[in-house]
Amino acid sequence: MNTKDTIPFLDLATMHIELEQELTEVFKRALRTAGFIGGPMVEEFEHAFAEFCGTKYCVGVGSGTDALRFALMAAGVKSGDVVITVPNTFIATTEAISQAGAEPRFVDIDERTYNMDPAKVREYLEGSCTVDDRLGVVIDNKSGKPVTAIVPVHLYGQMADMDSLVELAEQYKLIVIEDACQAHGAQYFSKKENRWRTAGSMGRAAAFSFYPGKNLGACGEAGAVTTNEEGLAQKSRMLRDHGQTKKYHHALEGYNGRLDAIQAGILQVKLKYLPQWTEMRRTAASRYRELISAMGNDKVTVSCEPEWSRCVYHLFVVRVENRDELIKQLASTGIGTGIHYPIPLHLQNAYVGLGYKTGDFPITEKVAAEILSLPMYPHLRGDQQSGVVRELTKSVVTEGPSLMEPKIA
Ligand SMILES: *Cc1c(COP(=O)(O)O)cnc(C)c1O
Repeated sequence: MNTKDTIPFLDLATMHIELEQELTEVFKRALRTAGFIGGPMVEEFEHAFAEFCGTKYCVGVGSGTDALRFALMAAGVKSGDVVITVPNTFIATTEAISQAGAEPRFVDIDERTYNMDPAKVREYLEGSCTVDDRLGVVIDNKSGKPVTAIVPVHLYGQMADMDSLVELAEQYKLIVIEDACQAHGAQYFSKKENRWRTAGSMGRAAAFSFYPGKNLGACGEAGAVTTNEEGLAQKSRMLRDHGQTKKYHHALEGYNGRLDAIQAGILQVKLKYLPQWTEMRRTAASRYRELISAMGNDKVTVSCEPEWSRCVYHLFVVRVENRDELIKQLASTGIGTGIHYPIPLHLQNAYVGLGYKTGDFPITEKVAAEILSLPMYPHLRGDQQSGVVRELTKSVVTEGPSLMEPKIA
């Protein structure tokens, strides 16, 4: 292996070297004012990020997991509720649901986009729930608990089919909280409204993560809740700060989930560059698509970007049959890859208590064995991508029936 040719799965160093001076200024400003938690740097970023998402409010918090938990609680999800989400996501999604006191209930994904399939949500609501007209609630037959919310995850940088999900939510009076932790700036064309909408602006509230590897990343932990509802923003602000309405007046028991001023300042600097970085990711994604299609090998399936979607490619995910073998081969030539995610949540030990078994979500399970995340970051070069696809060509199986050809209307 020649280290010169190494292509990492993620390169976090280059952009920070480029921005070193601007980022150092943030640190100096925080030192000079000794404002480390909350304060003007946090408020400035909150305004800028709300504007970026097209929402009225943004509440900076300690992490994406905090953001999800606070958004759910602030929107009214409570102990004893059932909340619908997907098994193909990071565990933070369901941790937040459980920590809000609710029980996660999974529905399968759409094989073309890897996101929540609205048809599966409808199937669950119609087939496994009973509408209590008197109370105006939907009851999950198995547990006898009320279903109160849906958490679609905009996975890999692509928004879920929100029109259909919002419509179902309206029909069944469910709260929609978007897990937008991988989708900063992703867009969805709403046919209903005849306009493009940005991730984080379509649910009652949304959660963003600014974990360093996300499309907009802090230099540490950070997250945000976005919403158009003042009350929901206010409640999230209370939850992040020990339930305080003002110092030492606790209206409720909250959390220590505030955003650091230094992280907010860093995010504010990086937010200026995010549109440009997103364009670079999208260029890299189309380059991958071209290179892979030129392989003339139907054994590599790329994910589908429907015409109603503008994906921000947090990850570039392909599917191959001999995935595990391929990872080893690529690693031996210095190419880093990832799997997002190898074990679906319904099969995790942490969720044995939910009573799911292998076979419950066939699409998620099938996909989990085949998905492979290729190197993806704004500064990924074309020659590096050619190198990745050259190695793919060498190692991928060529015999047997082709994987599904995704087509979407
Ligand atoms: C990163 C991530 C989270 C959690 O964010 P943290 O900032 O790490 O707490 C939640 N959901 C998804 C889909 C994520 O990718």
